[in-house]
Amino acid sequence: LDDTHADQDTVLRDLSAGTAAFDRLTLTRELPRAIAGGEMFLQYQPKVHVRKQEITSAEALVRWQHPTRGLILPGDFITVAEEARQISALTLWTIDEVIRDQRVLAADGHDLTIFINISGQLLGDKHFVETACAAVREGGVKIGFEITETAVIRDPECAIANLQILADQGIVIAIDDYGAGLSSLAYLKQLPARELKIDKMFVLQLTSSNRDPLIVRSTIDLAHALDMEVTAEGVETQAAMALLSVMGCDMIQGYLISRPVSIDAFRRFLHDYRERPAEDPRKSMFQR
Ligand code: C2E
Ligand code: MG
Ligand code: MG
Ligand code: MG
Repeated sequence: LDDTHADQDTVLRDLSAGTAAFDRLTLTRELPRAIAGGEMFLQYQPKVHVRKQEITSAEALVRWQHPTRGLILPGDFITVAEEARQISALTLWTIDEVIRDQRVLAADGHDLTIFINISGQLLGDKHFVETACAAVREGGVKIGFEITETAVIRDPECAIANLQILADQGIVIAIDDYGAGLSSLAYLKQLPARELKIDKMFVLQLTSSNRDPLIVRSTIDLAHALDMEVTAEGVETQAAMALLSVMGCDMIQGYLISRPVSIDAFRRFLHDYRERPAEDPRKSMFQR
């Protein structure tokens, strides 16, 4: 009986995640070929630094161009990759790809930190940590890792030790989706993180909600007290951008600035952004 319930739970969870259990099995089988065979690609989404009026960093987001199913977004295959123990291979591929793209951006005259999303599972994976460190060291470009707090909670001691190794290597650590999970202040204090990203669930309705602005403001103050910079993700409107600016938010990311786009579109975006005059409202929300 218990097994039946567990199966039903799995099926329900899978359906609610938008992918049937059968699909997940097929995707699991197809993943290794997809990673090795060039079906994965990256899109880049910039972050604007409010005071500097500059694009100081961007986030790499992985997509799967499936030969028959078309475009698959990470929400539909990252947990599959984790369960199939394929997430390390996928993430190491991502790191190599980002390093290659960083060279192209450097040739264009841009100097950005590119952030990569790291699954919690990988923070306990010694082989991954060592290989990632070596790749970043040899790559000689600015790389950041975005991790969620949930990633740390599984085995905090091990995760914090590995994050310290990565940070010592020069990798900038950012805490992703802050507020969406178990936001433990105890871990926040111990993590070698330089940046806190406020989850978009507090940002999307920022200017129409009573509570979200209070939560966002106190999170910004908390991060600053801990010497961290703050990014708000999910900024879709000028009104949200203006409010975040007044609250002292350091960086803004969202559809208002740019959707995640291909490397070539990202290069054009960076070029156009640089050409905009300082008083262009699209340059920054920070109008003195
Ligand atoms: P995340 O890291 O929190 O990324 C933010 C998600 O919000 C992205 O969805 C992005 O496209 C979306 N987004 C950005 N700006 C806006 C906005 O203004 N409004 C709204 N409504 N949404 C916005 P995406 O690309 O589908 O990624 C979903 C999640 O998948 C990511 O959440 C991240 O946790 C995970 N992910 C993506 N790439 C990777 C990867 O290479 N490795 C791992 N482990 N996870 C990844
Ligand atoms: Mg992220
Ligand atoms: Mg996020
Ligand atoms: Mg998120």
